[in-house]
Amino acid sequence: MHRACIALGSNLGDRRRAILAAAEALKTSPSVTDFRLSRLYETEPVGGPSGQEMYLNAAARLTVQCSAGELLELLLGIERHLGRERRERWGPRTIDLDLLLFDDLVIELAGLTVPHPRMHLRRFVLEPLAEVAGEMVHPVLGRTVARLLAELG
Ligand code: ATP
Ligand code: CA
Ligand code: CA
Repeated sequence: MHRACIALGSNLGDRRRAILAAAEALKTSPSVTDFRLSRLYETEPVGGPSGQEMYLNAAARLTVQCSAGELLELLLGIERHLGRERRERWGPRTIDLDLLLFDDLVIELAGLTVPHPRMHLRRFVLEPLAEVAGEMVHPVLGRTVARLLAELG
């Protein structure tokens, strides 16, 4: 059993529906138990091309039976299923699912970096995450999610 945290975001199409559909797909996946979703937050787009629509963001805390690599595969599969297309970096997307934390593991593989390398810099990630996993410790920075959020200022 592993504890994992995920960020969910959408700024294209029916954003709320996409986030709730992704959450439902995760929650009902055979390898997932103990799923908890934060509230949905409307946020300004950060980075990427100008003129993008506002985002809806959320975070989830879950317990999984699978490895971090398998969980990433599950996330990418749900993105594909919900019609995600990758065009430009940080461009508009129907759904984006990022693996933020996986136990206290530090993973640096070609296709998977955990903790997510930009999570501690992003209010749109930390604010929902603090709701469901405020006490979880970032294994590289050695501080809780709640603390990282407070330190964003
Ligand atoms: P950012 O990573 O800055 O949030 P993004 O989410 O828009 O940007 P994507 O195009 O969705 O970036 O992801 C590109 C690739 O990043 C994915 O195909 C995946 O293999 C890789 N990746 C590496 N680490 C992670 C992680 N922790 N969570 C999700 N994807 C990751
Ligand atoms: Ca992302
Ligand atoms: Ca992503």
